[in-house]
Amino acid sequence: MATLDPQDSLVFSDESETAKRRLSRSPWRVLIADDDPEIHAVTKLALSDFVLENREIEFLSAYSGAETIRILRDEPNVAMVLLDVVMEQDDSGLRAVQQIRQELGNEEIRIILRTGQPGYAPEEDVITTYDINDYKTKTELTRNKLLTTVVSALRSYRQIRTINQSRKGLEKIIRAAANLMERHSIINFSEGVVTQLASLLGMNPEGLLCVRSESEELEERIIVLGAAGHYAGAIQQPLEAINNDAVLSAVMECLQAREHVYLPQATVFYIQSKGLHAAAYLENQRKLELIDHQLLEIFLANITIGFENVNLFEELKAAAYRDPLTGLPNRAEFSRLLQESLTRETENVFAICDVRHFSDVNETLGQDVGNKLLHAIGERFSAAFKDDVVVARIGADVFGLIGSRQNITPERIRQIYSEPYSAGEDRIPVTMTVGLTQLHDAQSGLDILKQCYIALKNAKLHKLNGYAYFHPQMEEDTSRRLDLVRRLRSDFLANKLEVWFQPQVSVNELKVTGFEALLRWPQADGSYIPPAEFIPLAEYSGLIVDIGAWVLEESCRALRELSTLCGRTLRMAVNVSIPQFRNLEFPNQVERVLQQYNIAEGRLELEITESIVMDDPTMVIEILKRLRSRGVGIAIDDFGVGFSSLNYIQQLPVSKLKIDRTFVQQADTSSGAVLVETISRMGQQLGLETIVEGIETVEQLNYFRQLKIAEAQGYIFAKPMPLAALKEMLELGQCSLSLLSTTPK
Ligand code: C2E
Ligand code: CA
Ligand code: CA
Repeated sequence: MATLDPQDSLVFSDESETAKRRLSRSPWRVLIADDDPEIHAVTKLALSDFVLENREIEFLSAYSGAETIRILRDEPNVAMVLLDVVMEQDDSGLRAVQQIRQELGNEEIRIILRTGQPGYAPEEDVITTYDINDYKTKTELTRNKLLTTVVSALRSYRQIRTINQSRKGLEKIIRAAANLMERHSIINFSEGVVTQLASLLGMNPEGLLCVRSESEELEERIIVLGAAGHYAGAIQQPLEAINNDAVLSAVMECLQAREHVYLPQATVFYIQSKGLHAAAYLENQRKLELIDHQLLEIFLANITIGFENVNLFEELKAAAYRDPLTGLPNRAEFSRLLQESLTRETENVFAICDVRHFSDVNETLGQDVGNKLLHAIGERFSAAFKDDVVVARIGADVFGLIGSRQNITPERIRQIYSEPYSAGEDRIPVTMTVGLTQLHDAQSGLDILKQCYIALKNAKLHKLNGYAYFHPQMEEDTSRRLDLVRRLRSDFLANKLEVWFQPQVSVNELKVTGFEALLRWPQADGSYIPPAEFIPLAEYSGLIVDIGAWVLEESCRALRELSTLCGRTLRMAVNVSIPQFRNLEFPNQVERVLQQYNIAEGRLELEITESIVMDDPTMVIEILKRLRSRGVGIAIDDFGVGFSSLNYIQQLPVSKLKIDRTFVQQADTSSGAVLVETISRMGQQLGLETIVEGIETVEQLNYFRQLKIAEAQGYIFAKPMPLAALKEMLELGQCSLSLLSTTPK
């Protein structure tokens, strides 16, 4: 701790209190530079009982220009120099001036030039350039004149010092504040306050910052928020824990009095900010001066803002890691929790649950209801899983779960969402697609999330039972799929896709009634990638919209040619996917090709699957009605495969049921037969046409004939083939299927 100068305390140790206080202020340091010892003596004598602003003068002596510079280089805080112009050389003084200002960079010291002879007066511009306070001939310097000159020089020195110090202090404060603003936790910030306070005062950071809790029952507890130096261990502990009564009582005094406390060994700064009372305790290593106090006030005001900012930041953080709608952790927080779970040996399962068709709810019932639904979904998850499972909302309609194997299973999730949700006045049934993973070599939280998404995508793509567990194979599949999509796009643009046609035949007469258009993707090696593999990708990537439009056009063009060839109107069935239906242009597209190829009513048939209808019944029914009114037939493809509500069929503007191939294969089992018969009877009762696909044997054909199914399609008649081959075949058989090798019984 810097206290009084030893010299001063020696001389004045027995003086009164007032004298001591006076002495506690350091003297003005004045350098006399003159090669004439006599001048030194005279000057000292003249200023012997000089006191200005309670401070005396301490003299330093130099006898040459060189010595002047040396002293000023080593001695701090010299307020002024009485400088002889002529010393070892004629211009030693003037050169010293230049060195002081330029080489030493000392702009604060006041300079009074003295010369024996008027002829050595420096030029005016030297005086201004080097900030020389005064120029006097030695004879001019009578005691009185010397006094006034010194007084004004010292005053101006003090002013310059104050200004410079506060400027430096302010710079420090600004730097400190900037440093503090980067500290985003209250602990980090508090430690910063101590270190910045110390650096501001030029001390070692030995101290701590405590806060008194505002809550009633904890009124007396003082917690150490931040600490530096040998107090560092005390962070986040009660102040008592540091076992230092002096610190404890000093801090208590500060908090109770709500003001700064200045003690010989320490200073305790009181900080108040929005309901927070804090005390920063800093060990003193030197005496604090007035300028320190002023700086401290500014700094502490800054800290208050800082505290508010830190609080704000904590709020921001809460906002950044919470989903405001559901109050659940958001995606960022979920990622963090995933990351965290990596560090622990866990048997955890991670899942993401995608709410199907959520956008429909938003669009048809409004955002309000949509929000309520999401809220309800989140609440039900939380209630069902209690604290055993982390529930987060990680996307608009995607929820994330982390929990044990026992807790997170597809069955459990399904069970949770099985009941409709209340959202305002509505009761909304919800289904979800779920992607799950256990830790498969995940290196980061992001990896886990990625695995969940891959599983989810798989569940969607393969229309699995609404869920899929991640498997490392999937990752390879994913990159393979991406590659396929890329190639599909470029092959489509390069016109390499083909549309093949498979005849449909009347069961009774075995005459060709129409065709189904089936897409083919030939490969360079002559093989074909099966549609079952690339159509889902085309759907998923949206590519199917353009491809489908092209298929539609190709099919209609082919239909014209085939009808001309056979001399009668035939029918063309074209498969349509969901993304095509979702494209607002679709009905127009259909109408355009109908016109362009002059397709008569009932000759174009669109094959749609149940999933299209379920995707968005209202919209789909609307579009179907419009298409039906334009004379377009609508066949329900893959009929019988998991149609959840047969009621729908009655409401749907469809014209045909297409019995799926799987029923053909099951027809020889008794349960399968019951199903097929039910379906066919239902179709007839609803007044719908029926067609069966995948007929491969005569037995199968006979079976369906007996069920009064009107049409059939299958390898028994013909496989799908390119238009040229089909034309050839039809020409040969005169458009009946006399080419059929096996005649039905
Ligand atoms: P799908 O609409 O159910 O088409 C009938 C599928 O059954 C075709 O498979 C056809 O080649 C096959 N098939 C026909 N008769 C028989 C038979 O007797 N035995 C057996 N085992 N199979 C038979 P393909 O051509 O592989 O098409 C698969 C699926 O790809 C289609 O199923 C359809 O969902 C989709 N697809 C094909 N072309 C298009 C298209 O242009 N657009 C859309 N959106 N989907 C298409
Ligand atoms: Ca089909
Ligand atoms: Ca089918």
